Amino acid sequence: MNPVKQGLSTSTRVFKGISASPGIAIGKAFVLEDVDLAVGRWQVPPEAVKAEVARFRLAVADTRREMLATQQKILKLLGKSHARLIEAYLLILDDPLISKDVVRNIMQNRVNAEFALSEAVAGAVKALESASDEYFRERRHDVLDVGRKILLHLLGHRPQTVEDLKEPSVVVAHNLTPSDTIHMRTNYAEGFATDIGGKTSHTAILANSLEIPAVVGLHEITRNVRPGDLIIVDGYTGTVIVNPLPDVVENYRREREVRLAERRDLERLRDQPAQTQDAHRLVLAANIDSPDEMKSVLSHGADGVGLYRTEYLYLNRSSLPTEEDHYAHYAKVAQSMLPHSVIIRTLDIGGDKLMDFGIGGITKSEPNPFLGLRGVRLCLKYPDIFRTQIRAILRASAMGKVKIMFPMISGVEEFCAARQVLRDVMSDLRREGVPFDEKLEVGLMIEVPSAALVVDFLAQEADFMSIGTNDLIQYTLAVDRINEEVAHLYEPLHASILRLIAQTIKAGHDAGKWVGMCGEMAGDPEATPILIGLGLDEFSVSPALIPKVKKTIRDLRFSECQALAQEIMKNPTRETISKTLRQIKNRAF
Ligand code: PEP
Ligand code: MG
Repeated sequence: MNPVKQGLSTSTRVFKGISASPGIAIGKAFVLEDVDLAVGRWQVPPEAVKAEVARFRLAVADTRREMLATQQKILKLLGKSHARLIEAYLLILDDPLISKDVVRNIMQNRVNAEFALSEAVAGAVKALESASDEYFRERRHDVLDVGRKILLHLLGHRPQTVEDLKEPSVVVAHNLTPSDTIHMRTNYAEGFATDIGGKTSHTAILANSLEIPAVVGLHEITRNVRPGDLIIVDGYTGTVIVNPLPDVVENYRREREVRLAERRDLERLRDQPAQTQDAHRLVLAANIDSPDEMKSVLSHGADGVGLYRTEYLYLNRSSLPTEEDHYAHYAKVAQSMLPHSVIIRTLDIGGDKLMDFGIGGITKSEPNPFLGLRGVRLCLKYPDIFRTQIRAILRASAMGKVKIMFPMISGVEEFCAARQVLRDVMSDLRREGVPFDEKLEVGLMIEVPSAALVVDFLAQEADFMSIGTNDLIQYTLAVDRINEEVAHLYEPLHASILRLIAQTIKAGHDAGKWVGMCGEMAGDPEATPILIGLGLDEFSVSPALIPKVKKTIRDLRFSECQALAQEIMKNPTRETISKTLRQIKNRAF
């Protein structure tokens, strides 16, 4: 992307990328050299071919040692599930396809190991590039990273790394690997900016967990920054400013102070209830992907876990998780959340989340993965996988307050079929004398429009419902949730969405059931007054958003939110919504 000139000064340039982790970093640029995989080719004499293969194998072994050391470091700092990111690298390193290709090329064509390696990596990257699935396309960066690491060992070259930082700096790189990112915690990195990467890249996931401001996907940032340039990384807006003028730096410093003060203020609400000014109490819970996030859930004062996405247990590994793998994770979360409850959602693999190994057709690219074998559909087709997970969830229910929730339910029959599997597993456990909570609540997600349209029937069957707006919006408005081209059409406050939400809450309440929301809309302060007014009982948001949502709730009045919701539902156009929301915002309580 070309820099957007802001008329600041000739040397000041502003770049727009993807915000990967919030926060503001200001400092001198530390530019990491990019290792070019395009190496020279030379002929190896016949008698040296064996030694060349051995040289390649040694470089692979050295790379493995280095990766295992990084894995240990991640394990210590962030725990098991993040350490598994390195497993994805190890899988690539051990992929016989790449090493076989390299060895064959050296033996047959008598080429140097560096060249054979760069050819094999280029071939694998090309194959991944043409994959129709975004998850696989993203993996090409991992293959390139692994290729570079082996190459460095072959060349005996050690480029600068984040570990070489001697003073607080902002790291600028073509790409960062999870191992680079993990070193930032213990070094002087204030933030980072990279040419490539998306919101779902491993590096972005780690940056968020480590709370390091980061902007990725800047295309040409490495070409536009010299080492030592002053640089600002604004992780809130995805902006990077190179060589800013002093007053711009001053403004950003002030903004950083304000944000930090805000955060400290918000943190004081930790032990306060999520309740409106007129004492309407709500449940404010957290969304998590792994037990490692429990520290953050507890420190932000969540009223429970409203969505435990379990599919991350299945990613970055070469086989299915066992019942014990599941149980260890679920029991830990359930115990640490006591006296509050944890809603464990059964597997929602498929769509944009794919396993590294095959079950049915889902590692092959489906023509429309979001309309394919996803969530409960896959579980009902492969009942053994479903039963293993349900057994573990039920066993964990003896260790804390656990609720189970089924994703991607499209109608009553599907919910009843899932519930029947649950009943069968319960009978097995009873027979085996394995303890579990007989009264465990069984819920479902309202995220497929057909479910929202028959929600009155579903509300009779389920113990609770949680609205998954990420998918509900995608499917109702026909807007792919990961396609940037149509992102402007992704409208949480669209009249159709508000209707479906209102209908779901009403149907739930008419049947005497509670209704929550665990899609991103639940964490959007603009939507909070309407959602409260429509009667939503529970908000489940990412842990870092809890203080902000709590503050929004505590500034509102339930009676006013109800009046506002009524007004909006009479004429839910963008204009009425904005006008009514502005009114409530400006009202002094
Ligand atoms: C949703 O669809 O809103 C949801 C919470 O589920 P996920 O984002 O995991 O699809
Ligand atoms: Mg969903």
